[in-house]
Formats: sequence, structure tokens, C-alpha cells
Amino acid sequence: MKANKILVVGSSNTDMVIKTLHFPSPGETILGGRFLMNAGGKGANQAVAAVRLGGLVTFVGKIGNDIFGKQAVQQLEAEGININFVSVDLVNPSGVALITVDSKGENSIVVASGSNGTLSPDDFDKANDELDESEFVLMQLEIPIPTVEYIARIAVQKQKKVILNPAPAAALADELLQNLYLITPNETEAEILTGVKVTDETSAMKAATILHEKGVEIVIITMGAAGAFLLINGKSEIIKAPKVDAVDTTAAGDTFNGALVVALSEGRTIQESIAFANKAAAISVTRIGAQSSVPFRKEIIN
Ligand code: ADP
Repeated sequence: MKANKILVVGSSNTDMVIKTLHFPSPGETILGGRFLMNAGGKGANQAVAAVRLGGLVTFVGKIGNDIFGKQAVQQLEAEGININFVSVDLVNPSGVALITVDSKGENSIVVASGSNGTLSPDDFDKANDELDESEFVLMQLEIPIPTVEYIARIAVQKQKKVILNPAPAAALADELLQNLYLITPNETEAEILTGVKVTDETSAMKAATILHEKGVEIVIITMGAAGAFLLINGKSEIIKAPKVDAVDTTAAGDTFNGALVVALSEGRTIQESIAFANKAAAISVTRIGAQSSVPFRKEIIN
């Protein structure tokens, strides 16, 4: 299937992961299990998901002048992602995330944003031609929000479709919401954005309606093992995820978003795209790590 170009703008981090039986309490030191170092960051993860699942992807981000950032970008290039518009911050270090995963597969994460926090509108402007050639722009909130707002504004002026995965959750200006084609919070993020605690289809509908009334065309709330809630044209439904044994939910949302934008870029319907994203994300939770857990297109039936 012929896909249109996808622009992913966001963070790149080096994830340092330790598995433990349980999370340490404040002041407690525990001996963990295996240590893994992986390339991560929501932006880079979503770019990797999109390219592995068949998208034509350009990644716009910012690394520090250090080994972590260089390695991360080399890995993105090896995946087949266009990295010509990754800027280098000569002052701040590359982003790093410290991740603990417990025996139930839940994770707890602290991120030091470093150079991700200085990705500016000027940095983005270098990728203007890429924007012209792309149909979709996919962003998250691990880069400065004014930069996200700027990109959404100029993307809409160029009649591009902007998808925002509002993670980690933050209050968003109405102008940004009005510029979004699609928003993809998980249940926690939906609650932070709307004040509505999302636990089921009824509460998801309430939260999604608030976001739609603020100007977002399509709202998808990801609901973990239950799949994803969709609100489009006043109609809602839950599209179920396949049942799997979860071992690590790191990057489930990232895989979902990367897969979603690929399916949309191939001209699939929103419902088909969510089903594809559920399948990809369900596979990712059966594996440890962020980018290492993202499946390839051939692993997904349909
Ligand atoms: P996040 O990872 O951002 O917290 P979710 O937990 O909602 O987001 O998960 C995102 C998507 O990953 C879900 O919509 C679903 O497709 C898939 N997923 C997550 N957990 C599971 C699970 N236990 N079983 C199957 N699919 C899952």
C-alpha cells in the first residue's frame, strides 16, 4: 500500500531500565534485576513505530553533543527514518529516562529532558520543506509546548493534519486544541485535560466531548487492555484490543500512535486505523523495553 509522508516531531531519550519485584518506597533501596539501556523518548519511539509499521517517516528532534544522543540518532537512521532535521544543542545534554518496571509489568519513569527542552520553532523551520511534503504531523508533549503550538499553527495553515498524543499530560491552550485533527490521550491524560475521571465508555464520552467542543475534530482515548474509545462526528465506540499477556507496557501508547498515523497515511478509515494500532500496541506490551518492544509490519495480520 502506498503511504504518504509522516512528520514526527518530539523527544529522543536514552532509557535506562531496571526490572524489580516491586517499586522502592521513598528512602528505600532495593536490589533490582536485569539492567537494559534502550533508545526511547516518546517522539523517537513513535517515529520508530511508524517506520517499522510501514510509514515514510521524518523525525524532527534535538539531541545534546554527547554519546547518548549520537547513538539514539544513529539507531533512528538505521531504522530507515530521515534524521536530517535533528538539531544539536551544544549546551544541554541529551534526554535521559530512568525507568523501573515491576513484576506486573507496570512502569514508573523519571525523565531528564535535556536538549529536548530546547527544541525551538527555529529548529523546526529547517524542516519546512518536509512539512510541505507530509500529510500528517505527529507530536507529543516532551518538547516545549510553545514549539508544539507553533508547529500546529503552521501545519494547519498548510492544511496538514496534526495528531497530538498529549503525553505527559499538561494543560493545553484552546488555540492548540482547535488546530488538532486528532488527540490521543490515555485515561489519565484525558482526566487531566478535562477533569473527567475516565473509567468506562460513559465517562470516556464525557471527556471526549469536552475535547471535541474545544475544537479537536476526532478524539481517541486509549484504555489499556480494553483498547481505545473513539469519538467522531458525534458517534462513539470502543474498539477492543487483542487479549495478550502483558509484561511491560512501556511504549504501548507510542506504538499505538505510530501505528495509527501509518494506517491513516495509507488512507484507511479511522476505525480500521485504530484496530491496526490496537494490534501493534498489544504486541508491544508482550515485550520489554521501549523501541525494542515495537513490532514490525510483517508481525501484524492486516
Ligand atoms: P499508555 O501506554 O499511553 O498509558 P494505554 O495503557 O491506554 O496507553 O495503552 C495504549 C494502547 O496499548 C491501548 O489502546 C491498547 O491498544 C494497547 N494496550 C495497552 N495495554 C494492553 C494490554 N494489557 N493488552 C492489550 N493491549 C494493550
